[in-house]
Amino acid sequence: MHTTALVLFSGGQDSTTCLAHALQRYERVETMAFDYGQRHRVELQARLKVLEEIRARFPAWAPKLDQDHVLDLAVLGEVSETSLTRDTAFKMEASGLPNTFVPGRNLLFLTLAAAVAYRRGLEVIVTGVCETDFSGYPDCRDDTMKAMQLALSLGMDKRFLIETPLMWIDKADTWRMAHSLGGQALVDLIIEHTHTCYLGDREHRHAWGYGCGTCPACALRERGFALFSESIKTPS
Ligand code: ZN
Repeated sequence: MHTTALVLFSGGQDSTTCLAHALQRYERVETMAFDYGQRHRVELQARLKVLEEIRARFPAWAPKLDQDHVLDLAVLGEVSETSLTRDTAFKMEASGLPNTFVPGRNLLFLTLAAAVAYRRGLEVIVTGVCETDFSGYPDCRDDTMKAMQLALSLGMDKRFLIETPLMWIDKADTWRMAHSLGGQALVDLIIEHTHTCYLGDREHRHAWGYGCGTCPACALRERGFALFSESIKTPS
């Protein structure tokens, strides 16, 4: 029976839902993020606000929420040229992957997460990767996660579990999961404080939260929220 977890927590909708999942399930939960020169610092600020709000508004979860770790990964900007770290427009590459794809990024994240989990005595690594996502990042696939779990467990001689609560669900189900974990209070927190927009827009407020409303991340979040809202109005 696992009781401790490290959540890869970026401050977006997905990782906030994963954090709630972990806080519901485990006794001690720590969070981790990477600073790699994201085009917008908004994301790193959003995550601190989300942590603060969870501590203030969820008394059952607050005592379980332990340390937060932010690792400087500026080196990622040196080895890759992508629209997440450079000022270039979003587009699809000839490979069929969007130019937001940073080769090896999740592999690196998981390796560093496991090193922190090892040091902090945390058994489960929770990440919001998803195969049903529009982007089809190969390092978000279930097979990749299973291979990483094996590699990290063998390489550190410690049994790690990589947990992926969102792997097979879509964005509407991610909203539903948040609702079932933390009710409307968690849905409201996610709308108000999490950040998803690729353009870092915190000016335009929509029913589903802040964002430009047109980038792929906003479009996905908007569509999922619309489906989720429909389904809670007319329960089947
Ligand atoms: Zn956007």
